[in-house]
Amino acid sequence: MCSVLQIAVLTLVFCSVRSFTIQVCLSNTIDDDEFSVSALIEKANANIGKDENDPRLMFGDIVVHTGLRNADPCTARDCLWPKSSDGNVYVPYRISNEYSQKERDIIMEGLRSFSRSTCIRFTRRERQRDFLDIQSRSGCYSSVGRRDGGQVLSLQRSGCVYHHVIQHELLHALGFNHEQTRSDRDEHVRIVLENVKCGKEHNFRKIEDSRNLDTPYDYGSLMHYGRYFFSRNGQPTIVPVPDPDVCIGTARQMSPTDILRVNRLYACSTYHFPDLNPNPHHLVT
Ligand SMILES: [Zn+2]
Repeated sequence: MCSVLQIAVLTLVFCSVRSFTIQVCLSNTIDDDEFSVSALIEKANANIGKDENDPRLMFGDIVVHTGLRNADPCTARDCLWPKSSDGNVYVPYRISNEYSQKERDIIMEGLRSFSRSTCIRFTRRERQRDFLDIQSRSGCYSSVGRRDGGQVLSLQRSGCVYHHVIQHELLHALGFNHEQTRSDRDEHVRIVLENVKCGKEHNFRKIEDSRNLDTPYDYGSLMHYGRYFFSRNGQPTIVPVPDPDVCIGTARQMSPTDILRVNRLYACSTYHFPDLNPNPHHLVT
């Protein structure tokens, strides 16, 4: 139960810090959060688990495979997509024909967006064994990293076909977990379990051996959930520390850090920072 004392303390902390914070987030109310990646995913996935054919999900939208505690460390072993001799990483995909042309165009744009800033090239599947099988199942979800055979990446027609949700699920398929599950997350956010819906607490676990790729914790990551994720009472479940007013979960596209991580994980030799560097080609060794 959420105690009155806790609300009072939270309010006190929130207000006292807000009074001298320079950079105040103006779009982090529960109403503004409505279109965040996590709010859309939470809404679309609300009924998953009621059908016995539904996948078992963890962290809101990650398919759990048998015996898998967490997934990101698998990228150090065997779940990266293979690199081609030309330096690109070709990830085969198939898009179900149940989508309308407009929805298909939005999905295609999400796939293409990676080729503009990374060495990932999503390509139409021909005979490859491993591929992304993009379908409109119940909800938005993906496995983390490459799995054997066709792996379902679900983008439900109603609720998931948005550019930022598509990029988010594709980042999972490339091997990334949520920002707030990073090993060092407690230095940057506080998880308020008292405000979490009963039975959903496991979605806030930390992955102790996450690979952070020498990149800083990024509140602006597309993989960061919003502050009301799985809230049972309209109060925040994820609060940034020490500054609770920092925006979280508001990204509408991959952040420069998200892009950097893709390039680091896949050792892309040439890439550019579209939002940071006016010179398009920035060689990185
Ligand atoms: Zn996710």
